[in-house]
Amino acid sequence: MGTLGPGHTGIGMTSDRTRARMVDRLRADGIRDEVVLAAIRAVPRHIFVDEALAIRAYENSPLPIGHGQTISQPWVVARMTELARHGRTLESALEIGTGCGYQTAVLAQIAERVYTVERIGALLAKARRHLSSLKIRNVALKHADGSNDLGEDLAVDAIIVTAGATHVPTKLLRYLKPGGRMVIPLAAHGEGAEPSTQRLTVIEAAPSGFREETLDAVRFVPLLSGLA
Ligand code: SAH
Repeated sequence: MGTLGPGHTGIGMTSDRTRARMVDRLRADGIRDEVVLAAIRAVPRHIFVDEALAIRAYENSPLPIGHGQTISQPWVVARMTELARHGRTLESALEIGTGCGYQTAVLAQIAERVYTVERIGALLAKARRHLSSLKIRNVALKHADGSNDLGEDLAVDAIIVTAGATHVPTKLLRYLKPGGRMVIPLAAHGEGAEPSTQRLTVIEAAPSGFREETLDAVRFVPLLSGLA
């Protein structure tokens, strides 16, 4: 850090070097997939938050994005993307819960085609602006309730649900190609956990049926139904 810290001027917070340091921290915190780390390195997170919060954009913390929602923590974005990719090339990916579009932008570096849905219209509009300001063009956005059937004819390699669910949204599973993986924060039942705590869960469309694996404890805003 230079003599003038970011607290003074903000200079440097948006720089390449700041992002490189964030990626080093993610690596130290166990993120192993270099393809994912390169994607995180490529996406300027400060673009996705309000100017007043830009100074905190490279901390490993969630930040408010309005409408009672948050931008996910970089570590969580990296971990979910790593679990979804699972070392594969992704032709297509579906995200449920666009929010401000940060995870979408990271996915768009990795998958050829990204579909993302958001139930809050105003947030979707914000995400659309952020993505177009970064000239990200391989994303299709939709104002829809992703806890339900999307009325689309999709077949994707990965689904990332970025809001906490109490149960697996089974209507989405049919969108997974064989071998495809859904990553979703699922309420941690029976662990004496707080209601807002979930476990990252991977559901893989294996030849023998859907296979479920429960991983890291996380904290997400809830998956809600209906449009807003
Ligand atoms: N992917 C975002 C995370 C946003 S927070 C990021 O990278 O930061 C989760 C988002 O999921 C919120 O914007 C919330 O409105 C949205 N959401 C919650 N329930 C939903 C549903 N049923 N369908 C679509 N979006 C939903």
